[in-house]
Parts: sequence; structure tokens; C-alpha cells
Amino acid sequence: MKIAVIGAGIIGVSIAAEAAARGADVTLIDNKAPGSGTSSVSYAWINSNGKEPAGYYELNRAGLEAHHRLAGGGGDWFRPTGHIELAATPEHVKELHRRLERLGQFGYEATVISTAAATGLVPDLIVPEDCTAAAYFPREGHVFPALYIRHHLQRAREHGMSLRIGVTAEAFQETSEGVDVTLSDGSTVSVDQVVSAVGRWTNDITAAAGLGPVVAEYQEPGDVTVGYLAVTNPLPVSIDRMITSPKLNVRPDGGGRLLLQALDLDVNATPDAVPAVDSDLAKEFISRLQDVLKNTENAHITELQVGLRAMPADGQSVIGPVPSRPWLYLVATHSGVTLAPFLGASVAAEVFGEVEPLFEDFRPTRLLDSYPQQVLAAPRQPGQQ
Ligand SMILES: Cc1cc2nc3c(=O)[nH]c(=O)nc-3n(C[C@H](O)[C@H](O)[C@H](O)COP(=O)(O)OP(=O)(O)OC[C@H]3O[C@@H](n4cnc5c(N)ncnc54)[C@H](O)[C@@H]3O)c2cc1C
Repeated sequence: MKIAVIGAGIIGVSIAAEAAARGADVTLIDNKAPGSGTSSVSYAWINSNGKEPAGYYELNRAGLEAHHRLAGGGGDWFRPTGHIELAATPEHVKELHRRLERLGQFGYEATVISTAAATGLVPDLIVPEDCTAAAYFPREGHVFPALYIRHHLQRAREHGMSLRIGVTAEAFQETSEGVDVTLSDGSTVSVDQVVSAVGRWTNDITAAAGLGPVVAEYQEPGDVTVGYLAVTNPLPVSIDRMITSPKLNVRPDGGGRLLLQALDLDVNATPDAVPAVDSDLAKEFISRLQDVLKNTENAHITELQVGLRAMPADGQSVIGPVPSRPWLYLVATHSGVTLAPFLGASVAAEVFGEVEPLFEDFRPTRLLDSYPQQVLAAPRQPGQQ
């Protein structure tokens, strides 16, 4: 089978590698560098922590377990070192206990811990005075997306994948045998199946196929599609786990650097203006960091990033074939770093005719048939993403 996978982000490389491993003749197409889209600006927390409804929880749980299987304790891209959440306000404490009860019913590893136990797990943690509850999620962790993508590109190449970089997939022409994909350099790739894995650009692909939109587009500062991340200089901080605290999310980012996220600060985020590393926003990130971790006196922000989410219009994943275009399979989702290894294996299986039951709630037709008018709320509370 000949397959064109469009988009070499964390999801596209996963699908390309799995399809090539199954013996497909795969061409992976990206108009920029592999991994340079949303996958390069991601907190990359691997979890099924606050995922609702149950079908979306199951999907993300499958992603979490697939990461553990794939890395097998050895992959340099996955750090399954656990996650600590600290709660201060009565609303957050109540929500955390509700979530722990729900996760317990699903058999998800999650336990209440004392604040002393939290500092035992992260020696440089400063527990805020008003913090009255803490929880530990030992199977969660984070991924370094660039390393994950490198691994999958290498694996796909070993199985004979062709890589077309710097060309945009612009048009589709259905043929008696499949479909011709026209690229921006004028060339054509003739295949049996197209798998679109272009994330936040999915509406371009559906438009080129004569279909309506499925993902939310950026409208205004602070909407659901947009969020900040801040990277620090290398610091001598003793932290090997993810922390969600009332005012700041922190995780190691390699080489002593830390990656910071504060969802309440995203209210002004816009892709039209990336704040400078000495801006008030950068100073606010550092101030919050120094309240949460010791040995951060010399911290400064080396990079502020504005990420644009791949967000299906109803907030749930889009995964599946398009019945009116038998040659087209669409994948677009938030939580894509968590889901990538499960999507890679299971989308490749579906293209080969095996139906994945966990995808049934997420078929694209629901949005192609009826695009929701209501605007999605942006994540603002600790523990959301
Ligand atoms: C601030 C932020 C925090 C996040 N935190 C988390 C988290 O903690 N955990 C988690 O699991 N997820 C998180 N996510 C979401 C996750 O990062 C994304 O779901 C994931 O990276 C999407 O990957 P992708 O492969 O679908 O898209 P992308 O990485 O965007 O890849 C799409 C690729 O398609 C290419 N492309 C587009 N159009 C075309 C075309 N017509 N022809 C050829 N190439 C094309 C682009 O150049 C790009 O390389 C976060 C996202 C953001 C923005």
C-alpha cells in the first residue's frame, strides 16, 4: 500500500514509522522542518489526569501506557519520573479530591501525599504556606519531543520511508487507483491513502479536499488555541519530576534548564507578539519560580514561546477516515504528545483495515457535518492543559 503522511510533527512521524514497519510504501511530507510545528512548543506532559469524558480519558490512558511500552525504560525521549500537584485554594483542593476519586475508580495510579513527602520527592521544592493538599501521580512524566521525533524518523527511514521536506501538500485529485497529491514544487505523489497529520493546519487540508473546517482557529489573545511557555538558563536545582503548583507548572527541560507554564498568564498570549526575555511577563515567571524552587537565585528566562494548539472545534480528538473521501484519513488533536505512540500504531492499523474501538467517539464526521458555533473555554486552572 502507498501512503502519503502529511505533517512530520510528533503524530505524523509516529504514523509514518508504524505504517512503514507494516510494509507500506510511505512518503512523509512537511513544508518546514520535522518537529517544527506545535510539537516544538509543548509542555509535553504525558498523562490522562484531568481528561473527560471517559472515552477521552481512555484514549489518553492508552497514550500514557504506549509511552511506557515504547521507551521500555530505555528511550532517551521519555522521562517517566512522576508528577506532584500542590493545591491551595478551597476550589482547587475540592477539585483535586474529586479528580483523585474519579481516577481511583479507573485504576489510575494517583495518591494523596503529605507536603513533607512532596519535598522528599523534590528536595528543592518550597511548599507554599497556604498549600493544604498534595497528590502524586507516579506513572506520569514528560517527553522531549525533538528526541522522540528523531527516534521515529530514524525508525521510519530504516523501513524505507521517503521524506519530502520544504514542500506543501496543496491539492488532491482523486484517480481510479487512489489519489494524486500535488505539492508546492509542482510535483505529484500518487498514493492509495493520504493521512493528514498537520495539526493546527488541518482546515487547509479539509478545504483542499472540498470539506469544511474541523479545528479551531486563533481568534483573539488568550483564547483556547494559544499559550505561553518559558525556558530558563541551566540551574543547579534538585528536581527530577513535574510540579503543578498553584501559580506555576515546572518541569526539567534537559541540561538543568526548566520549562515553565502558568495558565492564568496565558490570558494575553497572542502569536502576533512574543514577549522579550526581559519583559514583565518573563520577570513574573521568574518571581513565581523563586517562590516554588530553591537554588533559583540566578534564574533568568532564555526563551519565551507562544504555542498554538491543534484544537478540534469541540475540544475532543479528530481521528478517522472521511467516508465521502475514501482516500483521506484525518488526525488532529490536542494532547498530541501523550497520544502520539498510541495514534501511530492504531492509525496505521486502521489504514490497513483494523478498526480501533477507542477511536469510535472521535470520528471526523461529527465536525465535518456540524461545526460547533460555541467558543471553547481556555484552560486556566492548575492541572488543566
Ligand atoms: C502551550 C502548549 C502546551 C501543550 N502541552 C501539552 C502537554 O503537556 N501534553 C500533551 O500531550 N500535549 C500538549 N500540547 C499539545 C501537543 O503539543 C500537540 O497536540 C502536538 O504537538 C500536535 O502534534 P502534531 O504532530 O499534530 O502537529 P505539529 O507538531 O504542528 O505538526 C504538523 C506539521 O505539519 C506541517 N504542515 C502543515 N500543513 C502542511 C501542508 N499542507 N503540507 C505539508 N506540511 C504541512 C507543519 O509544518 C508541521 O511540521 C501542548 C500544546 C501547546 C501549544
